[in-house]
Parts: sequence; structure tokens; C-alpha cells
Amino acid sequence: MKHTDAMIVGLGLAGALLARALRRRGLQVVAFDPEPGHSSSRIAAGVMNPVTGRRLVKAWRADEFLAFAKKTWRQIELELGRSLCHDLPVVWALPDVKAENDWLARCGDPLYRTFLRESAPDGLVSEWVAPAQHFGLTTGSARVALAAFLEAFAERLEKEGRLVRQPFRHDRLRLSAKGTWQYDGWSAPRVIFCEGAALRHNPFFAEAPLQPVKGEVLHVRLEAPLPPFMLKRKVMLVPLSENGLMWVGATFVNDAYDRQPTLEGRRYLEAHLRDAIRCRYEVVDHRAGLRPVTPDRRPLMRRHPELDGLWCFNGLAARGTMTGPLLAEQMADMLLAGKSGIEK
Ligand SMILES: Cc1cc2nc3c(=O)[nH]c(=O)nc-3n(C[C@H](O)[C@H](O)[C@H](O)COP(=O)(O)OP(=O)(O)OC[C@H]3O[C@@H](n4cnc5c(N)ncnc54)[C@H](O)[C@@H]3O)c2cc1C
Repeated sequence: MKHTDAMIVGLGLAGALLARALRRRGLQVVAFDPEPGHSSSRIAAGVMNPVTGRRLVKAWRADEFLAFAKKTWRQIELELGRSLCHDLPVVWALPDVKAENDWLARCGDPLYRTFLRESAPDGLVSEWVAPAQHFGLTTGSARVALAAFLEAFAERLEKEGRLVRQPFRHDRLRLSAKGTWQYDGWSAPRVIFCEGAALRHNPFFAEAPLQPVKGEVLHVRLEAPLPPFMLKRKVMLVPLSENGLMWVGATFVNDAYDRQPTLEGRRYLEAHLRDAIRCRYEVVDHRAGLRPVTPDRRPLMRRHPELDGLWCFNGLAARGTMTGPLLAEQMADMLLAGKSGIEK
């Protein structure tokens, strides 16, 4: 039996950031995942955007999460020797006078001054962007290449013999007489489940309030150079510097549990893409994933109510790139202190 400090089930964004946070505290971990980061984290654009939505509101604890995330992603780049995080402003194509007025009103709000600019600077918006009533700009936003991060992190764990590329079978987890958890030749005082939307198949946390939200995205090749900004017009267009393609997303569908791309999703995305651009494009890929979302959009960071040493770190919802780095640190502290609960 090989002893370790923690077993982590699922090596998507949540599992990987938590594994890193525990390792930084001197703990040894082993992770289980047949395809690390295969689901939500691989579909995501990895955008960190403090201001979102039609109502232009700041995301929950945006200032704190964004500052911490940017610092962390820079550290991770150094640790892994990979370029992963790029500052990219968002150009907002505002379709009508009402949207423009709402934008200008928001720009006058002192809480938003750090991030909003009344207009995109002259010369920034490329000529292939479709005309709009007005172009606003948010700064402070960035994009992280999540698939590259997960690939590099998984490779590192694997080299150290600390990644088991197999599905975790919950029915094979045993509690020893000494109170440690045993699984497949490993033993540890704690097991943390980070399975994203697959948590619903986990018998220990089946009651957790996770309601996945399906999202579909396209990867397209534009007949134009990639711009130095992301473009928001109903859908979001995100330049992927790693492969020269444009990410176009996303749809939001509640109560869908499959990860199959649909014709309806593709039609929706292409219709909005055609509204946003004035150049030819080719669809190279079409993918779907499940965002792990709770009803109140807050993370799930909890201990099993009865079984000591079983934990869950999940519910990163649609913003894991920005919230995950700080939440993983808080989760690691909670694990070491043995206490549940985070600031809401
Ligand atoms: C369309 C779309 C667009 C998005 N865009 C963004 C964005 O731009 N910015 C942003 O911050 N967030 C975005 N998100 C959300 C982001 O993807 C999530 O916040 C985050 O990736 C969730 O990470 P996770 O590790 O909890 O889950 P996942 O990434 O789903 O990882 C779970 C992992 O658990 C593994 N697993 C499951 N069951 C088992 C088992 N039994 N044994 C072993 N392993 C198991 C899976 O293989 C997987 O690797 C988007 C999501 C979608 C779907």
C-alpha cells in the first residue's frame, strides 16, 4: 500500500488547482482521471472577465478573484515553463441606443471605473467586425489556455507517478480500521472529489445541489488575422493564440446531461457569429460540455457530513479560471484545518 496525504478524484481545473495548492503546502497527492480535463475545462475559453452579462454587472468578488487569479496564473506559467495567460481586452459591440446608454451610464459608476472604457480606442476594432451602434471596451480581462495548463500539469504528475489515468470506482473505496481511506493500492487520510458535472454519479455527494448547464462552442478559422481583443456581441469571440483559431461561444442549456454537440446549438452560434463579423469563416470544430453549477452559483467546498476525510471541491460554474485559483487555496486551508464553509 502506498501512503499519500490526499487522493484527488478528477483532474479538471478544480482538481489541478487544488492539487497544486496542496503540493505548495508540502502535501503529497495522487490524482485519478482517465482523461484529465476532458470535460468542461477543455471546452472553456478560459476567459477571465470581471464584468459580464447583458446587465453589465461585476461578477461575485470580481476584484479580489481577478487580482489573485492573474498573480497565480503568472506563477503557474513559471512553474510549468509555458506561456498560458494573456491579457486581452473585450470589445463590446453595442447593437442599439439603449445598449449604448446603459453602457455609458455604467462607465460613470465609480465601482466600474477600473474596468470600463466609454469607447474602444480608434483603430483597435478590425474592419472585419460588423458595424454596431457603439463599441465599448473592458480592460483587466485575460484568457488562460486551460487545455495547455492541464496537459502540462497532468504530465508533471504522471512523471512523478502521481496520476492514475483510470476512472475512479467509488464502490472500491474502503475505510481502514485505522481511519484512512484505501483505494487501488493507495491509502490517504483524505479523498477530495473534483469530478465537475459527473459529481451526480458520486454516491458520497449525490445530494449535493449541482445542476449542470450545458454549453456548446465552435472553433472557427476566420479569413482575417486574429485580433488583439475578445469580441462580445451576444456570443463571445475569443482568439486562441495556440492554434490561430477563434473560439465562439457559448450556449446555455439547463437540465441537459449529455455532452453531444447539436445542430440547434451550431445554428444558434453561427447565426450570432454572422451578425458579429463581416468576413468568411470555416467551422473547424464543434464541442459541448457541462458547466458544474449550483443553484446560487457559489462553489461547493464541503466535507461529507458523516464520513471523516471525504470532501468535495466543485461548482466552479462559468468562471472557474478566475475564481478557481483563490478558491483552491481556501479549500486547501479548509482541508488542513478540517473545517467546511467559505465566505459567501
Ligand atoms: C461552453 C463552456 C464555456 C466555458 N467558458 C469558460 C470561460 O471562458 N471561463 C471560465 O472561467 N470558465 C468557463 N467555463 C466553465 C469552466 O469550464 C469550469 O468552471 C471549470 O472548467 C470546471 O472545472 P472542473 O474541474 O470542476 O470540472 P471538469 O473540467 O468537468 O473536470 C472534471 C474532471 O473530472 C474527471 N472525472 C469525472 N468523473 C471521474 C471519475 N469517476 N474518476 C476520475 N475522474 C473523473 C473528468 O474526466 C474531468 O477531467 C465554460 C464551460 C463551458 C461548458
